[in-house]
Amino acid sequence: MALAELGLGPLGDSLEELRWTFESGKTRSISWRKAQLQALLNFLRDNEEQILEAIHEDVGKHRVEAFRDEVGVLIKSLTHNLDCLEKWVAPKKTKLPLAFFPATAELLPEPLGLVIIFSSWNFPMSLALEPLIGAISAGNTAVIKPSEISPTCSSFLATVIPRYLDNKAIKVIEGGAAIAAQLLEEKWDKIFFTGSPRVGRIVMSAAAKHLTPVTLELGGKCPVVLDTRFSSSEMEVVVKRIAWGKWGLCNGQSCIGVDYVLVEEKSAFTLIGLLKKAINKFYGKNTKECNDYVRIINEHHFERLHKLIRDPEVANSIVHGGSVDKEKLFIEPTILLNPPLESEIMTEEIFGPFLPIITLKNIQQSAGFIKSRPKPLALYVFTKDETLKKLMISQTSSGSITFNDVAFQFLSDSLPFGGVGQSGMGRYHGKFSFDEFTHEKAVLRRTLLLDLEPRYPPWNDFKLKFIRLLYKYDYFGLLLLLLGLKR
Ligand code: NAD
Repeated sequence: MALAELGLGPLGDSLEELRWTFESGKTRSISWRKAQLQALLNFLRDNEEQILEAIHEDVGKHRVEAFRDEVGVLIKSLTHNLDCLEKWVAPKKTKLPLAFFPATAELLPEPLGLVIIFSSWNFPMSLALEPLIGAISAGNTAVIKPSEISPTCSSFLATVIPRYLDNKAIKVIEGGAAIAAQLLEEKWDKIFFTGSPRVGRIVMSAAAKHLTPVTLELGGKCPVVLDTRFSSSEMEVVVKRIAWGKWGLCNGQSCIGVDYVLVEEKSAFTLIGLLKKAINKFYGKNTKECNDYVRIINEHHFERLHKLIRDPEVANSIVHGGSVDKEKLFIEPTILLNPPLESEIMTEEIFGPFLPIITLKNIQQSAGFIKSRPKPLALYVFTKDETLKKLMISQTSSGSITFNDVAFQFLSDSLPFGGVGQSGMGRYHGKFSFDEFTHEKAVLRRTLLLDLEPRYPPWNDFKLKFIRLLYKYDYFGLLLLLLGLKR
């Protein structure tokens, strides 16, 4: 049922306005796109303090973490897109086979139309605005539906974005699952969704009704493979990076954060010792009192996480941490050694501050371990061994694979960000965002010169030979053939 029919008149009218704006052709102009990107840049610069506060209010991130993962990343993307836009929108000439002579062809990037962006709460600004940068760059009109779980950021976007961006082309619609479900009834030209695989399935089946293309930026378990053949000073850096990839990225509540670590049995206790040292260095002895340590987003997620470690067999595997405080939505950094592989903590995405360590006889077995599970969004491998690197690249599949660091793949405009298999479909960032919201139209220009008979019936052997020849040779090949230099 459409929004207007559901009694959501103003919302329905808003979408009509956006469709009308797209049809008017306004958003196709490069100057409009650039003006919107510049306005978004102004929005971030003018409101930096309020944005960092809103993120702190909703998610509890320290302003340094919020700037690093949200405002800073967005400013970087906007600057990059403003620099590259003219190059991206230019039609690209493409070569044609001999059979097309005389003709020219090009690929013409065209916007998709009206798109919707559903975002998640853990990066409440960047997951809403980073796809929007792609949508605007590609010349679309757009709706953003921020997560209701980060209400301060959602309301900030809904209130302040209209003061900066063209309100006839870009709108923020707030609401929870009910509004999201109603929005999904509408016909969109693209749905860009960031969230859980559970809701991803709902989105994809709603999209099927209108054959709408979808981008699904989902989650899952991102493993670390740790080959400990490092010097002791290198190991300290390695483990600091792993600890940061767990607790330093929204306290585990991040799609690309470390979910669990695979390591050889003999190195497990060294790893645990170094992890404890890193936690202590980051947050001091009393994490509960530390302002840099992010809390669990809400009671629902606190209960979900607490249940994971209340399973007696899982509880038995805790080697560090495990204390909780519901009132403060606090869960201590918690390390587990070999929790049962069939327990929920090892079958579901953790999305919280628990770090299971799974031991293997030898590190090469990690490829088989990862392969036997859903394809991760990100795979992290710490090693200096080139053979192990090759093995992991060739034997496993994941949205990305990063050697000797965590999450850095996310920060580069030249690397696509997205999942594979259950971790999602489609990709974005930099030019990939532009492409994700663009249809590359094939434009072929022929003339009426040279109308060769072999294309038309009635058929005969000569026509077949002629067609074979056209398919076999390009211009250069034909020239060589005519010169007798090729058979
Ligand atoms: P979620 O799936 O609960 O919510 C995401 C969005 O979907 C929100 O805007 C929400 O309002 C909307 N929504 C909720 N119920 C809906 C319904 N029934 N129909 C339509 N829309 C609905 O996810 P979340 O809790 O916000 O985020 C956590 C999940 O997102 C984790 O799995 C995490 O790994 C994943 N995630 C992925 C990325 C990525 O870039 N790949 C980034 C952040 C989070």
